[in-house]
Amino acid sequence: MPDNTPSKDTKILTADPAGLTRAAQLLQAGELVSFATETVYGLGADARQGEAVAAIYAAKGRPSFNPLIVHAASAEAAQRYVLWNGWAEVLAQAFWPGPLTLVLPLRPKHGISGLVTAGLETLAVRVPAQPSAQRLLQIFDGPVAAPSANPSGRISPTLASHVFAGLNGRIAAIVDDGACGVGLESTIVGLAGEAPILLRPGGLAAEEIEEALGQPLRQRDVQDPLTAPGQLLSHYAPNEQVRLNAAAARNGEVFLGFGAHQGSGPEDLNLSPDGKLTEAAAHLFDYLHQLDGLGRPIAVAPIPDEGLGAAINDRLARAAAPRD
Ligand code: AMP
Ligand code: MG
Repeated sequence: MPDNTPSKDTKILTADPAGLTRAAQLLQAGELVSFATETVYGLGADARQGEAVAAIYAAKGRPSFNPLIVHAASAEAAQRYVLWNGWAEVLAQAFWPGPLTLVLPLRPKHGISGLVTAGLETLAVRVPAQPSAQRLLQIFDGPVAAPSANPSGRISPTLASHVFAGLNGRIAAIVDDGACGVGLESTIVGLAGEAPILLRPGGLAAEEIEEALGQPLRQRDVQDPLTAPGQLLSHYAPNEQVRLNAAAARNGEVFLGFGAHQGSGPEDLNLSPDGKLTEAAAHLFDYLHQLDGLGRPIAVAPIPDEGLGAAINDRLARAAAPRD
């Protein structure tokens, strides 16, 4: 069965303690829960569970893996996952909770799935202001990865009924908390480099951020295809050469298998011995990192180009693309 066939009984939960406790339990169980934030309805999954994060992509039908924003209950909670700095402290004090996302270096032993960051060494974090989202995050007490709760290519939902119309049968539950206020995405600021940079304009004006920082934000270079709006600063790419659709490893290569295409070397890995695309997606970036660390070229087994396989192949094609 393709992994995006609608088969779930999507529950509508109320934004009261009983509904939010149920929503937190579902997240813990690796299920997808949509919840209201002050920007748009998010589609949440436990950011530590790779297969739950993969299910976000399957439910949305997203054709490509982009890094996701992790939602936390407070700045203290966010600091479990990222390395904090002076700019982050100033901006969190001034604007959290609120529609501002900060990109910071991952902390050692962060526990966040490689699929959330799409293999990058940085993480986007935000503390949402919507009281029901805050309470859900407090009860859950963990990191929640959440892009907008709409099928890929459709407009972002600002009502529970929009989410239901788009994702009914694909997710476990929706916490109905009425209409979202801002209706705009969060502003994203990168704080992992030598100066703060505006990665995406959004619900919080850049001028307000500059005033709080006491310095101008660097703008991204729109001529650079890797920093075009909506794209990330740079995609994760292995150092070593990657060869796709390989039946087996050749001389010197290490093998990244899938299903019955199994390597025979001691360091070879298999994305999913059972041929499950959700499991393969959950392992993709972590396994690429591991194999890349061996310093040998990487041969990758064929991945079926259906369901999540399309997003996996999209990312593998970028990893294999020639570059200088
Ligand atoms: P959304 O679709 O609203 O969840 O927003 C995700 C956006 O955050 C994407 O445009 C990403 O490019 C950006 N983003 C997330 N994580 C990072 C990161 N580590 N570095 C740069 N941009 C990021
Ligand atoms: Mg979106």
